[in-house]
Amino acid sequence: MNHSTGTLYIVSAPSGAGKTSLVKALIDAQPSIRVSVSHTTRAMRPGEVCGVNYHFVDRETFIDMIGHGDFLEQAEVFGNLYGTSQSHLQQTLDEGHDLILEIDWQGAEQVRRLMPGARSIFILPPSQLALRQRLTNRGTDSDEIIETRMREAVSEMSHYVEYDYLIINDDFASALEDLKAVFRANRLQQQAQQQRHGNLLAELLA
Ligand code: 5GP
Repeated sequence: MNHSTGTLYIVSAPSGAGKTSLVKALIDAQPSIRVSVSHTTRAMRPGEVCGVNYHFVDRETFIDMIGHGDFLEQAEVFGNLYGTSQSHLQQTLDEGHDLILEIDWQGAEQVRRLMPGARSIFILPPSQLALRQRLTNRGTDSDEIIETRMREAVSEMSHYVEYDYLIINDDFASALEDLKAVFRANRLQQQAQQQRHGNLLAELLA
């Protein structure tokens, strides 16, 4: 089988739409897909691991990294800085792995400009009520933070029009199937298949 370059995917969603769980389930099912680990200045939540969920850094370190041009994109979300480091990104794609960036709409806008081949997916909750319940059930944030996040969620969702694919996460299993379908369909695109199956195509047309 011939080598083909991976695709860069942007996955955005309001907090509480289930993006992280969906992406995790996708990776568990298809381990060749990679997820970029972002840098952030936000405090670690219980259960999070540095280097796994995020690279947790202080603001000074983050600003230094911006100065060194280390980030493909970076944005301020809920008062914290988040960014995708450039290192390993191109190498991962060149090795043929699809790579997911779980980033907000501001980062998505920057990545679309820099990497026009990137595909973008927006994950939506089935209703505002469901979103509120999911934010409350998480149990890690105060009421005030939940209200702020509800407002931020509506503002984030208003950017859905900028994305190539929309997935409604009502039933988890079917949302996961939808996500898998996006990746599968993209892998079947003519140019990618041509790279992968060059020998077959040559043989068929001989
Ligand atoms: P959380 O703090 O809840 O993990 O993430 C808050 C928001 O920051 C989410 O919308 C998430 O997608 C976004 N985010 C996480 N990492 C990055 C990143 O590297 N760049 C950008 N632009 N947004 C990010």
